[in-house]
Amino acid sequence: MTTTLVAPFSMADLLQRQRDFFATGATRDLGFRLAQLQKLRAGIVRYQDEIVAAAKADLGRPAFEGYFEVGAISELDYVLKHLRSWARPRKVSLPLNQKPGSAWVQPEPLGVALIIGPWNYPFQLMISPLVGAIAAGNCAILKPSELAPATSRVLAKLVAETFDPAHVALVEGGVETAQALLAERFDHVFFTGGERVGKVVMQAAAQHLTPVTLELGGKSPCIVTPDADLAVTARRIVWGKGLNAGQTCIAPDYVLVQESLKPALVEALKQRIQACYGDNPAQSPDLSRIVNEGQFDRLVGLLDRGNILIGGDHNRSERFIAPTLIDGVTWDDPMMQEEIFGPILPILTYRTLDEAISAINQRPKPLALYLFSKDKATQDRVIHHTTSGSLCINDVILQVAVWDLPFGGVGNSGIGHYHGIHSFNTFSHLKSVLKKPFWIDLDWRYPPYDGKIQIFKRFLGLS
Ligand code: NAD
Repeated sequence: MTTTLVAPFSMADLLQRQRDFFATGATRDLGFRLAQLQKLRAGIVRYQDEIVAAAKADLGRPAFEGYFEVGAISELDYVLKHLRSWARPRKVSLPLNQKPGSAWVQPEPLGVALIIGPWNYPFQLMISPLVGAIAAGNCAILKPSELAPATSRVLAKLVAETFDPAHVALVEGGVETAQALLAERFDHVFFTGGERVGKVVMQAAAQHLTPVTLELGGKSPCIVTPDADLAVTARRIVWGKGLNAGQTCIAPDYVLVQESLKPALVEALKQRIQACYGDNPAQSPDLSRIVNEGQFDRLVGLLDRGNILIGGDHNRSERFIAPTLIDGVTWDDPMMQEEIFGPILPILTYRTLDEAISAINQRPKPLALYLFSKDKATQDRVIHHTTSGSLCINDVILQVAVWDLPFGGVGNSGIGHYHGIHSFNTFSHLKSVLKKPFWIDLDWRYPPYDGKIQIFKRFLGLS
């Protein structure tokens, strides 16, 4: 795909225009930010049908799941409601030895942000960080994924109609476009995508010491313990894996079930797959397609190992893969070495909870971890003895839509986090301000120091 700029500027010119606009101070005004967010909201409402149609064109998304893209609007509404309070100075208390005076945290915008997105939720994952960037008072340049071209077109139209390019602009294009943008100096780079490209982004940003947020992927395990409600567990896992045909960064990647429960869980999962997608899932109107042939071939290649329990059918011309349960897979198989990112769910077993925890802790830190258990002690054990970007107990995916929860990875699954106030903070510099009066100026800290050590020691609590 060739680079198309939304206006007749080169990237460096566009960036300079945004820098100049930022320097006017216009974006610092809270009224301006709120007005821009309202305009964005109106644009999303206006384009909702096109957004859903684009998700269908790019990913074969059923309309219901297409509305997950439009659903970016609910975070936007949350931000509109709370922005005034987030933007206020945040007063902090002064230590006694610093009084009199006052101190506070003054959130201020960073400048110009670059936002690079993936193809799997191609609209939502551009709009959600953009909302944070605008809310915090920044300018932004967006680079959506070239692998979801229909959504990229809708985003380009929406952005061009809604914003002055000196404030928010969108550049369509592929890898070279992303690289050309990354060569420029931004004040923040917000990237959503895979681990490999995350490293490229971080390296490019390091040339300018630009801070990055990296929203990456990884394998998100799903532990099922013997006391879980099996029917509800199966409903939720099949839903979370089926959504967007498993092409969701926080989809349950694999199931780790206590061995005595495996036959019953497999039966419940099979029944749910049939209930959701019918006897012939290729005919189901509720199943997305794999984004492209490259991803399709990779996923079908993973089916070489293990025993297929249900599913396994695929059709390259339609990029269709049936929801598939598979067992007999070992930790060394390719399926367990990489993020699956498709509708294939391996079922592995454990004997003791400690064994499950240890298996997870030996591997890169997951973006999400799911636990199905009613037992409080089990829940506490997993909370306190594992690490993951997020942990969701007795459900899947939904933690992403609790706007007060920071969303992001840890270790290999990402750096930084966002959503709600966490987006506002990510795109802000939290400036420390200390203010002192002139009317009192004690002598004890100034040279000559002779005879002042005792007073200093008293301040330090040492005598
Ligand atoms: P990707 O890393 O291949 O591409 C993401 C973006 O980077 C695209 O816009 C692409 O044009 C650009 N890009 C690709 N190669 C580049 C290069 N060499 N230099 C600079 N830019 C480059 O990711 P993807 O395949 O679009 O998305 C899938 C991945 O994203 C999965 O790993 C998934 O888990 C992850 N993801 C994470 C989240 C999250 O919130 N943590 C959300 C969605 C997807």
